[in-house]
Amino acid sequence: MKFYNTLTKKKEEFVPIEPGKVRMYVCGPTVYNLIHIGNARPMIVFDTARRYMEYKGYEVNYVSNFTDVDDKIIAKAIQEGVSADEVSTRYIEECKKDMAAMNVRPATTHPLATQEIPGMIEMIQTLIDKGFAYDVEGTVYFRTRKFDEYGKLSHKNLDDLRSGGRSLLVTGENQKEDPLDFVLWKPKKEGEPAWTSPWCEGRPGWHIECSVMSKKYLGEEIDIHAGGEDLIFPHHENEIAQSECCNGKLFAKYWLHNAFLNIDNRKMSKSLGNFFTVREIGEKMDLQILRFFMLSAHYRSPLNFSEDIMEASKNALERIITAVDNLKHLEANAAVEALTESEKTSLEAMKQYRVKFEEAMDDDLNTADAIAAIFELVKFSNTEADEKSSRAFVEAVKREITALADILGLIVDRKEETLDSEVEDLIAKRQEARKARDFARADEIRDELLAKGIVLEDTREGVKWKRA
Ligand code: AMP
Ligand code: ZN
Repeated sequence: MKFYNTLTKKKEEFVPIEPGKVRMYVCGPTVYNLIHIGNARPMIVFDTARRYMEYKGYEVNYVSNFTDVDDKIIAKAIQEGVSADEVSTRYIEECKKDMAAMNVRPATTHPLATQEIPGMIEMIQTLIDKGFAYDVEGTVYFRTRKFDEYGKLSHKNLDDLRSGGRSLLVTGENQKEDPLDFVLWKPKKEGEPAWTSPWCEGRPGWHIECSVMSKKYLGEEIDIHAGGEDLIFPHHENEIAQSECCNGKLFAKYWLHNAFLNIDNRKMSKSLGNFFTVREIGEKMDLQILRFFMLSAHYRSPLNFSEDIMEASKNALERIITAVDNLKHLEANAAVEALTESEKTSLEAMKQYRVKFEEAMDDDLNTADAIAAIFELVKFSNTEADEKSSRAFVEAVKREITALADILGLIVDRKEETLDSEVEDLIAKRQEARKARDFARADEIRDELLAKGIVLEDTREGVKWKRA
């Protein structure tokens, strides 16, 4: 299995630090709003990487944080007149719902930055003790030029950065020793969440969060660190500087970055009006289609979102689902039970599609070619399986299609339509459970409904529901 490593700019064979195990960290979203479809790309892509590695037999410890202390969260809280904690808690819940609807599995651990402040203070103190950081009136900066290897991930030269990026780097913080130095800890402003530290009442900088959470949940050396390509510089570069200077060890062996998602060939932005949340898309279509669309391109290629492309994705996914439907029908009506000799030969030939699928995935997670292999298998199914086929044969072909789709996290079993009356019934049961203060049961029912694609919203006027 090969991955393209941003650190070496090469495709490299994946060799884990500990045989059979993978320690993987994926930078998660800042939770001040519903996630947008750009945020969904790393979620889907790296969830697929995790699924594939598990399929290959690795035990994957997958950690992905929620950044729950940040300027944008504070701004939103002020705007709404609520606490920052209320904003982040709300959007973490919403993000988890979107992830479930996209069939993105929960991480092994989803750490929250605000729960890890003691670890951050400890790492910052170590960096100060080792001479890699300094305190100026309560603000602690990382002494970038002290780390010889700074720039190794983004392949930037420190001198170029210093001269070329001066206007960009100097933000009125004259107190810094060098424009390239970045913040590890900063004093609070009025009304902001803050923690006591040896330097001042304040809060951590963004970069230190990931260094600390990665170390706590995965150890000082990890196999894979991933995120969107916008994070390469400065976020990941700074994470490397902090972790490697603190721990004296290589931080991560493989750095994986997804390219951006654009809309109608333009950068997604609120001001251009081409900004979509995952929730909005989910209201229009099954989010399996969004997942399929994300995987239909290589994760390192820019991906363009448009209505036409989504329509094409819907039709393509439908072709797989229809093939599985047909196989189910044939299975139920098959006259013969056991495999015939010619079917045995045919199943031998069928193995080539899995080989192609694995070859594609082994080549830096080429999901586009892996999906092409599934389509070849669908074509095989459509020509080889018919009313005369044995049940065993039909079942084997169906199992093969669903198994390969499942590695990509694609559900190709047609969802049974849930009747409105069933939903109402479950909502009533949930209300009863809540009245009886059986909140565990109430949550269970909510999750059950979510699995059927029904999202509940508790409003002042009562419980409202919609199909995700
Ligand atoms: P943020 O909440 O902005 O830190 O983003 C969370 C994750 O989403 C990061 O890994 C970003 O790189 C990624 N991301 C944000 N926008 C896009 C986009 N348009 N396309 C692909 N990835 C994105
Ligand atoms: Zn990060």
